[in-house]
Amino acid sequence: MDTKAHNRREFLKRFSAASAVGIGASTVLAACGGGESANETAAEAPAAAPAATGCMDTTGLTEQEIAMRNSLAYVDVTPDPAKNCLNCSLYLAAAPGASCGGCNLLKGPIAPNGYCISWAPAQT
Ligand code: SF4
Repeated sequence: MDTKAHNRREFLKRFSAASAVGIGASTVLAACGGGESANETAAEAPAAAPAATGCMDTTGLTEQEIAMRNSLAYVDVTPDPAKNCLNCSLYLAAAPGASCGGCNLLKGPIAPNGYCISWAPAQT
């Protein structure tokens, strides 16, 4: 009985000491930015969405039309400088003052410097 009371007292003493250390450590870590390095924070942070460019807005398009843009991997900036919408036979020139043109294949705004896998060289 006496041993149990002694053990309980010892346990409570250790527990309160450990709690004080834990609270102190968490306070210090919080003050230092949570104890994470900049690299750890960046690695855990969700990737920032790419900056929206002017011709990626699919507002008003049907799900099918959006799916078509996605299936043809349309992008606003071509990965191949030699192939872009402006020199594609399917490109529809932008109206004067507009930054986006159109496409005979894909619905929605199309960037002159865009690209999709259906690129076909314009006839010169
Ligand atoms: S077919 Fe593709 S590459 Fe050609 S204009 Fe349309 S989106 Fe651009």
